Amino acid sequence: MTEASDDSFGIEVILLVGDETAPCCPHGPTLLFEKVSKGGEKGRRFYACSACRDRKDCKFFQWEDEKVSEARLLARESENQSKRPLLTQQESYCRFKKFASLPLDEKKFCQDCQILLLPGDREAHSSHRSTAVTAAQLRRPSVLLRPLDNKKSNAQYLFTDRSSRFLLDTLAGLGYRKVLCVGTPRLQEVIKLRNLEQKHEPMKSLLLDIDFRYAQFYSQDEFCHYNMFNHHFFDGEASRAVLQAFLAECDGQKVVMVADPPFGGLVKPLANSFSLISQTWRKLQSSDSSNSDMPMMWIFPYFFEPRILECLPSFTMLDYQVDYDNHPLYKHGKTGRKQSPVRLFTNISPRGFVLPKEEGYRFCSVCERFVWSLNKHCAKCNVCPSKDGREWKHCAACEKCVKPSWRHCQSCGRCALPDHPCGHAQGTQGCFSCGSLEHKRKACPLKDTHRVGRHRSSAKSGGKRVSRPSALKAKARRKSGAARRAKKMAAPSV
Ligand code: SAH
Ligand code: ZN
Ligand code: ZN
Ligand code: ZN
Ligand code: ZN
Repeated sequence: MTEASDDSFGIEVILLVGDETAPCCPHGPTLLFEKVSKGGEKGRRFYACSACRDRKDCKFFQWEDEKVSEARLLARESENQSKRPLLTQQESYCRFKKFASLPLDEKKFCQDCQILLLPGDREAHSSHRSTAVTAAQLRRPSVLLRPLDNKKSNAQYLFTDRSSRFLLDTLAGLGYRKVLCVGTPRLQEVIKLRNLEQKHEPMKSLLLDIDFRYAQFYSQDEFCHYNMFNHHFFDGEASRAVLQAFLAECDGQKVVMVADPPFGGLVKPLANSFSLISQTWRKLQSSDSSNSDMPMMWIFPYFFEPRILECLPSFTMLDYQVDYDNHPLYKHGKTGRKQSPVRLFTNISPRGFVLPKEEGYRFCSVCERFVWSLNKHCAKCNVCPSKDGREWKHCAACEKCVKPSWRHCQSCGRCALPDHPCGHAQGTQGCFSCGSLEHKRKACPLKDTHRVGRHRSSAKSGGKRVSRPSALKAKARRKSGAARRAKKMAAPSV
């Protein structure tokens, strides 16, 4: 399977090892994309932003073979500069120290600018909304800061207490003492709070995140401004050194990474960044562990499993359902639990994970791992087959377990939804707008509500500047199941 057939609708990411020629947007080196048409012909390659799925958020576009004028290069450079944070990490932390020592009635947070205000800043923010900040609130930046809700590039979904507790207790139980938090600000926060309880052996954490607002709350050793789609450290060597120091396991302190990337993100570049982190870790190891991989957990929806395992074959998906405070589709309601499609992918042995019985998990003694209660062991497949939390059933003709809603179709020779477009290969039918196989574009309930998909939008806006073959645009509109579902999760309002 190529990237094209999964989450990028006919556009593939080309990762060139050690390539330093990629031009930079404000989010660091761009990624090289290539359109692939149905017949497998390769299209013209172009560079686009690694982090933003929407051209509105980052308008960078450049054909691979395009000659860029000196003037445009300069303009680009100054644009990149202008997007840089005003303060260094050290300066930010200095401010934090000062802020922490202020008397309670002087501790103010500007909600409009999302920054902590020192007495000298107040006048400039006098017409803005500001709130008081208690010492306890200062320890919970993820509560204080308004979660980014840009559906396309950077929506922030914060763990419920239950999920962050589970992660933390599990990692502590497995003996990890250092947690590299990649896009998991709340986890970092919970680690620091746990240390304050002084009941446990302290854990260290380092947050790598693109959301620079978090820099306000942490020291240089605790936060690096980082882009996980191109492994770019905005502060360059200084941050690389911080990461190196963190990954070195002095005094036998075992390190683990926990990443929770935006769900619309491309799997291949993420896997590449995590592999680079693992490489950095490996180089710091003593020779006896120089062959092993850094322990990692990657939090992502279950339907990306094939894609993740393709990129990182040593990973397995656990049944644990991660849930979020501010995601309407799958937060844990008062009336009972909604099932969350988000899972843990890890290269740590699944046997080490004890999933809570009281939340509906059970131990399968044959598989020797914890599974969701409805995930019944199939003697014929010899696995607990369910991926989505529903009870799957075995189909003798397909010789495998399938989703409960599927029926075996004689003409297709496989199991499918009862109202599948029978006799047609998948992907050639259905809706060009949302990717659903259940209706045509004309009947699409989502038509014109919004458009999602990085490549679709980049192809589209790219086409405004340089005309492209319309067939490619049509191809770019089509979406696979995974992309469709990721979209649904990114835009729960529809
Ligand atoms: N569940 C996590 C938050 C996940 S939301 C928690 O509770 O801690 C996704 C996180 O990834 C956000 O913190 C967001 O700022 C960060 N992020 C989004 N795009 C990123 C990128 N390109 N590089 C690094 N971090 C990114
Ligand atoms: Zn960009
Ligand atoms: Zn089976
Ligand atoms: Zn079947
Ligand atoms: Zn549709």
